[in-house]
Amino acid sequence: MRHDVKESPLTATRYDVAIVGGGMVGGTLALLLGRQGFRVAVIEAGDMSPRWQPENVNARVSALTEASRQLFETLGLWPHMIARRVTPYTQMTVWDGAGSGEIHFNAEDVMAPALGHIVENSVITDALCEALQQQDTICCWPSAQVTQVSEARPAAPYGTVRTLTLNDGRTLEAAVVVAADGARSPLRRMAGIGTKTWDTHQQAVVTVVTHERAHQQQAQQVFLPTGPLAFLPLEGERAEGHMSSIVWSADTAEAERLMVLEDDDFAVALAEAFEQRLGSITSVGKRAIFPLVQRHAAQYVQPSLALVGDAAHGIHPLAGQGANLGFLDAAVLAEELGRAYRQGAPISDQRVLARYEWRRRMDNATMLKAMEAFCRGFGEQNIWVKWARNAGLRAVDRCAPLKRFFIRQALGDRPDLPETMKA
Ligand SMILES: Cc1cc2nc3c(=O)[nH]c(=O)nc-3n(C[C@H](O)[C@H](O)[C@H](O)COP(=O)(O)OP(=O)(O)OC[C@H]3O[C@@H](n4cnc5c(N)ncnc54)[C@H](O)[C@@H]3O)c2cc1C
Repeated sequence: MRHDVKESPLTATRYDVAIVGGGMVGGTLALLLGRQGFRVAVIEAGDMSPRWQPENVNARVSALTEASRQLFETLGLWPHMIARRVTPYTQMTVWDGAGSGEIHFNAEDVMAPALGHIVENSVITDALCEALQQQDTICCWPSAQVTQVSEARPAAPYGTVRTLTLNDGRTLEAAVVVAADGARSPLRRMAGIGTKTWDTHQQAVVTVVTHERAHQQQAQQVFLPTGPLAFLPLEGERAEGHMSSIVWSADTAEAERLMVLEDDDFAVALAEAFEQRLGSITSVGKRAIFPLVQRHAAQYVQPSLALVGDAAHGIHPLAGQGANLGFLDAAVLAEELGRAYRQGAPISDQRVLARYEWRRRMDNATMLKAMEAFCRGFGEQNIWVKWARNAGLRAVDRCAPLKRFFIRQALGDRPDLPETMKA
């Protein structure tokens, strides 16, 4: 499955769209636009070489909604991801570690085959990179970083264009420049766009573990007083036991303590925190740690510029929504640019970009607020708040219509989905 990264035969340095950041969201946007005939440049700091390894499960995984899965189906990438490794999950259990409230969701309740799929991020980026290389309307600029972005200036027939300068001195022009360069987005900073930031004072410890009992394709999350701990099921079994990826979000001091524990001590602490629901932890992979800061860009668009994915919004991973929201951004922006093109309007027209912002910003803001409320609510140790949230969990668990509503949210099922994400 190796693919060599080569620059595409496009030689001109003027593009319809230049995407800075060829990660999960930038790569998806590039493919959506390239398939519509746009001339696209992808500038990526990494070398874009394959990262997925069949024998090693990468600890960085994403729980994809059905809507995101459908997007990759539309792009023809899903079979390539399945050929590598994806794990469906059909059930989800969430409970309060400091009480007795618990909710159980089952895909059968809405007659869906699965609630979602756990996919290694490297499976997604490798499948994307492979497809980008095969699309002759897309030019990849690997191992390159943007050091400067100009102001927008008029340029027929594009409306306006911006010039990007790379670290090796090369320049390129595009009618629309897209920042898909992650949470710390250098391009967002260069464009002078500020963010509203909420530091959760938590960090997420991620790794792959094996455990005694089978996960039965169930995703599980316990809310501990120090933060949520999720077990995401992974396909395949090892000699040591069944496999899951874990995301253990904890207050910074606790997360740093967890990072330096010996593997055996970490395994004991993990099994205990998880109330032994999957039995003992039989092996622990390499651990990695990520600061959890929620961020929301003050604006998503400027003349000839748009933000997508983590560059626009960074969200706590407790509901596994960050990448899914980013794929929605990509699909909506591609839809709006495609519509403008078909109507003969310049794609850099401010009304076109404003429509993208209008369709995505409020939605992302709502999800960010919901995650903040979850974090604060479950971090609260006041006895009455604890009582209320446990009563709430039990009430939702008993209310079938409300549960079906939450399952549809988890599936990413909504009336305003872009066409490429609809079944
Ligand atoms: C612990 C954890 C668990 C998570 N679990 C889930 C989950 O289950 N489901 C889910 O939907 N989301 C999840 N997320 C969120 C998800 O990982 C992110 O939302 C997603 O990776 C964002 O993708 P992106 O492409 O916007 O940014 P990134 O993945 O950060 O990609 C940015 C790209 O830009 C490149 N880049 C950076 N700077 C430059 C530059 N100057 N020039 C050129 N290129 C540049 C980088 O090399 C990178 O390739 C999780 C996050 C964390 C931390």
